[in-house]
Amino acid sequence: MIVCSKCGGKTVKNGTVKRILRTGYGDVEELSIQRIKCKVCGRVERVLPEEVERFKQYSRIVLEDARELSIDEMLNVYADSISEMSIKRWRTQKNQSLF
Ligand SMILES: [Zn+2]
Repeated sequence: MIVCSKCGGKTVKNGTVKRILRTGYGDVEELSIQRIKCKVCGRVERVLPEEVERFKQYSRIVLEDARELSIDEMLNVYADSISEMSIKRWRTQKNQSLF
């Protein structure tokens, strides 16, 4: 049983949402993410499956590279799995996240 992260109240299932995951190496995965709703405060949250957590670890490596390498180096390393636009965006964002 998952409890509300805001008030600790009991939650009920509230449908699922689809999310496309793109890894830095060009793989695409579609995930079904469970939504839950708190019966006490009404907050709706998403329960991230393990795959997303793993993907975050994975994407962190790419993001670290994006900050340390030049754009040309990034394009060499990741070839056509990442667009130049994405790399530029990551380099200019703080608290970077692919989501
Ligand atoms: Zn709540």
